[in-house]
Formats: sequence, structure tokens, C-alpha cells
Amino acid sequence: MKKYIIGNWKMNLNVHESSLFVAKLAQSLPIKRNVETVICPSFLSLQPVSLQINHRQMKLGAQNCYWRDEGAFTGEVSAAQLRGLTQYVLVGHSDRRYIFSEDDRDIRFKVQAALRNCIRPVLCVGETEMERGDGDTEHVLCDQVASGLMNVSSEQLDQVLIAYEPVWAIGSTAPATNDDIAAAVKIIRTQVEHMFGKAAAAEVPVLYGGSSNLENGKDILASTGVDGLLLGRSSLIAPEFVGLVNAAAEIGKETK
Ligand code: PEP
Repeated sequence: MKKYIIGNWKMNLNVHESSLFVAKLAQSLPIKRNVETVICPSFLSLQPVSLQINHRQMKLGAQNCYWRDEGAFTGEVSAAQLRGLTQYVLVGHSDRRYIFSEDDRDIRFKVQAALRNCIRPVLCVGETEMERGDGDTEHVLCDQVASGLMNVSSEQLDQVLIAYEPVWAIGSTAPATNDDIAAAVKIIRTQVEHMFGKAAAAEVPVLYGGSSNLENGKDILASTGVDGLLLGRSSLIAPEFVGLVNAAAEIGKETK
């Protein structure tokens, strides 16, 4: 199955810096048929970067979108406005859930808006440290997946990716253990199976995100059920990002 390496640049790099960084990536980023490489710059940089990149080498994702297509929503950018510009959009990243108070309804509507506008949503789910401490991981993951995918049809599920991002591992010093990741991915696939059946659950790409880098990323990519990585800090270090794309290509070959 295809591996996905997605870089979330967050609120880093202005337009000029984005262009320089993309030029640097382009020098060494391989084009591999078994890896989909996606960068998610800020909204401002999407258009110029889109004109600069080789779309076979990397695809573009937005970090967020609004779920209404148009209207009086000052400061928002809709999936309809991103249509044709980005192939992916992150939905429900923990920064959005916990800093900007997005709730399950917002996230569900954003998944639908992305699909309606031919953009693949990357639905981010994950438990907080407190939820994990309370033994609520399974419950939280099932709820977030069920709510995010409510009203998605079986045909549309083909376009959806899910990223398991434990909130406590994001921006920290270490990722979740491979056992924790495998357990969470299993919970997520089981929930998808309840909603869409066994075959769909096996097919939906499930990524991991949270303090992964070149050192630990290869093991994570090789762990059971993991189809790729959603990277924060490592996506802004060219050799790390390129190294992980290469690693994904190698592991993809072995797990074909
Ligand atoms: C993230 O914010 O989605 C993320 C994975 O960040 P980091 O890799 O820096 O932990």
C-alpha cells in the first residue's frame, strides 16, 4: 500500500522563505510511486508554492479550511476556495481543537466540505494526556472517528485519510511507543470497520504524528497498520523530511 509523508509547516515561513525551502526540498526529494509526499504551507504561500513545485514530486495540502463555501466569515478560507489549489487539507489538528476550540461538529462539517470540493481530508484524532491518564484513549478515538466520518459515504471514504496524533506526543521530546501506536491504529480501524466494513477499514490510510523524526520514523513507518507520518518540526528540516520520504519508499517496497 502507498505510504504518505505529510509535512505540516504550521505558522512558520513567510512567502519568500517558503519558496526558498521548497527549492531546497526539490533538489533532493525523490519521486517514488509508492510514496505520496505532501507539504502544508500557510495559506499565504499556497498559491506561489503551487506555481513553483513539480506536482509529481510533492502535493499541496492546506492546514485548515472553513466548512461554508462562501459568505460573511471574515478571515476564513473555505474548502471551495482551496479547490483546485490543494489536493489535501488537515482537519481537526489538535492545534485547531485545543487552541481554537473547534468541536466535533466543526470538524465533521470540514470533512464534508473538503470532500464536496474534491480535496482529501486528513482527519486528525488523538487523546490528550489527561484522557490517556484516565484510561479514555479508546473512547476518545472512537468518538472522534465516528463523529468526523458521520455522513461520509462509502465511496467518499476512499478519499479520506486519518492521522493518529496523540496530543501529548505533539511538539514533545518523544513519540508514542510503537505498541501504543499499533494499539491506537487498531482502535481507529475497528471503528472504521463498524461504520464502513472490514475491507474499507483495511484500506483507509492511517498515519501517525507526534515528535517523529528521521531517527524514530523508520520504526514507526514499519509498525503494524501505519501508512505514513504527519510531521511537524521534522518537515521544516530538509534532510529529515527527504530522509523520511526515502525511508517510506523502502518500507513501502517491503510491505507491498
Ligand atoms: C503536529 O503538530 O502535527 C506534529 C506532528 O508536530 P511534531 O512533529 O513537531 O511533534
